[in-house]
Amino acid sequence: MNPGTSPAQRLAAVRARIEAACAAARRDPGEITLIAVSKGMPADRVVELLELGVEDIGENKAQEAAAKASEVSVMAGGSAPAPRWHFIGQLQRNKARTVAGFAAMVHSVDRPGLATALDRAAAQRGTPLEVLVQLDLSADANPARGGVRPGDFDALVEAVVAVEHLSLRGVMTVAPPDDDARRSFDRLVGYSQSLQAIHTSATVISAGMSADLEAAISAGATHVRVGTALFGARKLASEHRT
Ligand SMILES: *Cc1c(COP(=O)(O)O)cnc(C)c1O
Repeated sequence: MNPGTSPAQRLAAVRARIEAACAAARRDPGEITLIAVSKGMPADRVVELLELGVEDIGENKAQEAAAKASEVSVMAGGSAPAPRWHFIGQLQRNKARTVAGFAAMVHSVDRPGLATALDRAAAQRGTPLEVLVQLDLSADANPARGGVRPGDFDALVEAVVAVEHLSLRGVMTVAPPDDDARRSFDRLVGYSQSLQAIHTSATVISAGMSADLEAAISAGATHVRVGTALFGARKLASEHRT
């Protein structure tokens, strides 16, 4: 990514990539939600994108995200519509309330205990929390990446639908960097299809980042999570788990 390009140019380039991938897959670009992943970036960079028409923002650390969400609502105050905040990172149970305080959707539910904690937090805020079940489809389980292993997927889905204040909206994965991303995405779509056969409103397929959004769209993703291609490179510290 050329560091000299403006936010508007970077956004246009990402939108063009999404449109080209949709054209190649004979899909309607209107089916794809672009989530701008602003981890490690200050609030003013988020506001810039909101003013350019981005409506969905993703964050992966609870505390940083909560602070930024309130900063953004003050800074944007009227000049841009409030975004939908997506929480996409590894989450500890004791941060569930923090996340339920600002997030519309949590993409990273990967164990029953976290579903329970988020359910309690959502009960307190009074509106249901939309959640995705994150799958770890890598050859070797990688705790740093998060996600439930396929063998535990059904039990986790049951735990999510059993509670009152979570709304199961679909599935998510992070493709291992050194793996065939397309293969992970195809498998994720397979899990999504069997899930939707039972839970018809679980239509979200969150897959694809800056490097692999074309493969994800080609496989069937509905939500892509794009950081670097929109904001430029981050410091590595923001990659670490909360
Ligand atoms: C950081 C992050 C992204 C965005 O990654 P880029 O390569 O910067 O586009 C997407 N999903 C998750 C879970 C992330 O942590």
